[in-house]
Amino acid sequence: GRATTWVHAWDEATGRDRATDAFTASYGTAPDGVWSAPGRVNLIGEHTDYNGGLCLPVPLAHRTYAALRRRDDDTARLVSAWDPTDAVTVELAGVAPGTVEGWTAYVVGVAWALRERGLAVPGFDVAVDSCVPVGSGLSSSAALSCSVALALDAVGALAQDRAALAADCVRAENEIAGAPTGGMDQAAALRTVPGHALLLDCRDQSVRHVPFDPASEGLALLVIDTRAEHALVDGQYAARRATCEEAAALLGVPTLRELTDSPARAASALATLDDGTPEGGVRMHRVRHVLAEITRVQEFVALLDAGRLRDVGPLLDASHASLRDDYEVSCRELDVAVEAARAAGALGARMTGGGFGGSAIALVEAGSVEAVADAVDAAFRDAGLRPPAFVA
Ligand code: ADP
Ligand code: MG
Repeated sequence: GRATTWVHAWDEATGRDRATDAFTASYGTAPDGVWSAPGRVNLIGEHTDYNGGLCLPVPLAHRTYAALRRRDDDTARLVSAWDPTDAVTVELAGVAPGTVEGWTAYVVGVAWALRERGLAVPGFDVAVDSCVPVGSGLSSSAALSCSVALALDAVGALAQDRAALAADCVRAENEIAGAPTGGMDQAAALRTVPGHALLLDCRDQSVRHVPFDPASEGLALLVIDTRAEHALVDGQYAARRATCEEAAALLGVPTLRELTDSPARAASALATLDDGTPEGGVRMHRVRHVLAEITRVQEFVALLDAGRLRDVGPLLDASHASLRDDYEVSCRELDVAVEAARAAGALGARMTGGGFGGSAIALVEAGSVEAVADAVDAAFRDAGLRPPAFVA
């Protein structure tokens, strides 16, 4: 078939070397160390994190590497190997919401968040490099902020646990980078372990590591970066969040999660929301997605616990349909990707991440990874879409 595009992960040594080389090239000295954090794909549980719900991310082999050296003053110097000409110097004392633009906000925002908790964060020089695809819904932003959080924790001898660091990174993204994010990405970057999915309960941030090893069952998880670029992504995300918050307020619950405590309560909530007005109908559909999706996470985990990964396909498919029809966050590229993957034999497929572009996942037989990728690639070309990239 045609040549498909694959984005392969670096091995650990390559990532460390690259970040170290970038550091030395910029600052003429060696870093104190290199710290790293992975991108992620979410197996199931989409748009549930900001509703106090459940999600199930797995770490990618793709990571962001931060080479960092402590300074004796209050200055931060930053460079990314993606654009070494865009080196930036920031006085940390001046960092506050609204003061930092662009990618550096994900870095100095972490120092700011740690200091907001009263921790003594030193000045630093940092160089980052990454093989996580950027802006593809695979969480390069959290891989960046979380790699820096680990670095600052180490050079500052802060001794913070990973749940606390994840919360700091959420604040950095929300308040300094101005990017709305619900907490899944940072937990995935800091709290996942290889060979396991992370069952994250966003009500209390508790986690359980659930064994997830497709290869041991003759399967593979194909990650498809649609490379679709759609405007208004952030606006749509904010609108979905606002609708969920409105619905929770109308129903008198702190988060939609509370409604999942009993099926009867969920059903009566949906009936209440569906008040015959167009807005009520939209609210009902949004909430129906969230409630059903949380249940699907529970069912997915039960199958994993039972060693039945082969049986999760229908849950993936149902998640996609719900995101497409009830939550309305899919797009043509995502729909083409999942439909082509299924037609080529995938056991199940769905969009992953916030939607409106980004990536999709397909659970496939290990021996058919290339064939499914070829089929998805061909479907994109037939539909007149820019070819996708496959992340492996
Ligand atoms: P995603 O997290 O899905 O990749 P986001 O829009 O949340 O997409 O984050 C992407 C942003 O993160 C980039 O625009 C950039 O500001 C920042 N970023 C991520 N990784 C790097 C990197 N290695 N170097 C510079 N900036 C980065
Ligand atoms: Mg992000």
